Amino acid sequence: MSNDVIVVDNFIDGGVKSASSDEVIDVVNPSTGELIAVVNASSAADVEDAVQAAARAFPAWSQLSPGKRSQLLHRVTDLFERDLQRFADLEVADAGKPVTAAREVEFPAIADALRHFAGAARTLSGQSGGDYVTDHTFYLRREPLGVVGAITPWNYPLWQAIWKIAPALAAGNTIVVKPSENTPLSTAAFAELAAEILPPGVLNVVHGRGHVAGEALVEHPLVALTTFTGSTRAGRRIAELAAKTPKPVVLELGGNAPVVVFADCDLAHALPIIASSALYNAGQDCTAATRILVEDHVFDEFLSGLVAEFQDFTSMNASDASTVLGPLISAVQRERVSDLVDNARLSGTVVLGGRAPEGSGFFYEPTIVTDLDQRHALVQQECFGPVVTVQRFSGDNEGLALANGVEYGLAGSVWTRDVGRATRFANALHFGTVWINDHLILAPEMPVGGFRSSGYGKEGGVAGIEEFTRLKEVIFNLR
Ligand code: NAD
Repeated sequence: MSNDVIVVDNFIDGGVKSASSDEVIDVVNPSTGELIAVVNASSAADVEDAVQAAARAFPAWSQLSPGKRSQLLHRVTDLFERDLQRFADLEVADAGKPVTAAREVEFPAIADALRHFAGAARTLSGQSGGDYVTDHTFYLRREPLGVVGAITPWNYPLWQAIWKIAPALAAGNTIVVKPSENTPLSTAAFAELAAEILPPGVLNVVHGRGHVAGEALVEHPLVALTTFTGSTRAGRRIAELAAKTPKPVVLELGGNAPVVVFADCDLAHALPIIASSALYNAGQDCTAATRILVEDHVFDEFLSGLVAEFQDFTSMNASDASTVLGPLISAVQRERVSDLVDNARLSGTVVLGGRAPEGSGFFYEPTIVTDLDQRHALVQQECFGPVVTVQRFSGDNEGLALANGVEYGLAGSVWTRDVGRATRFANALHFGTVWINDHLILAPEMPVGGFRSSGYGKEGGVAGIEEFTRLKEVIFNLR
């Protein structure tokens, strides 16, 4: 271990705290393969500590007026905006985010989401009721839940954390976050920054492995809700564990987005957007444009256009200012992507890429695969790399059947100039987000969330904040 290796400790009750055991997990820079930090491998005892701190902080935090909570979250946002580049650089190091996109796109969007949720703290309301029984008046209260347990993935570490922390706190809850063990740096730093403003115990971070610290957080009886973003496999396990206490769960799980391209679409407009939506974050995006379905008679034109677009993406060290395509998160993830592509080679055609370049870091070439059957693993499973499949279809019915023909239901897009067809597809696609002539755009004002194996519950928008509340009915006898 070099002298530069940072030790990332838990953050509990307003201060940095080492875990109860000395066990640590390596954090590696995916652009270079070098060890840059080690993070606490927390146990159930450390989770207990954090949950107790959050429970102690809950009464005072929940009783602050929404206006006061909003003001404090705005002050946290001011500090975050001041330090935005420092935060972006942490994820360039541990998540392999291309530095220019991180500094100029992703982290300003995180600040914007924080600002949005800070303001939204003041918008929650119950509902005025009615006199549904003679001499009785009914109304509804919307209340915070208590301690929220949040578990986040490595592909958008701080983004995912903020879409959970900010609405949970805005609604009056306190929170314990378990970040991905691959990418703990930005969430740990955010907790320290926010502690300059927030009372102790309101925001706690416990690091460690999913099956130890993560499961202890889900199972803890004082945790009133689990909000999870990650793989469908872990989401299933979390839903099972949460049922024991029992508690509500929000699950934002895997995706495998269809991109339905009709012959009448504007290809010059579509191609660069589809290419960048496939390759943004090296394809490690749950809504990435991965399964491209192209209407028969523009298939060849589309494919040669996509190859040309993909050729503009060269993978480079994420800290190079000109990088648009960074590495995959780990050697394990690259092997998974590579195995799926190698398997696809047996029955399909790798038109472009399909190799890991020589050298250090976990890079993989932008890859296009055609001639695969709908049942093939690369079509059915989430690949989470810079890899797309391109399939042909003929007519609306076949296009729709192929688009819907996977277990996932997170997001998809349709590309056409025909308004009626665009609307029919928006209605008939079984995906929680549908773009028309676009892909990947999101706003914190609108709720996102998957259907089917992509999970349930919403993040963002009014529905997303309401997930962090409970409704209570109150009935007055007027006599
Ligand atoms: P992952 O499921 O392996 O891990 C996610 C988090 O869950 C990590 O913090 C991990 O430690 C923890 N975890 C793992 N097993 C657990 C268990 N049994 N109990 C409790 N916690 C557990 O996912 P990942 O590889 O970090 O992230 C990639 C996945 O996240 C992809 O499938 C991607 O589609 C999904 N994702 C979904 C969305 C969305 O909004 N739907 C957004 C981003 C990522």
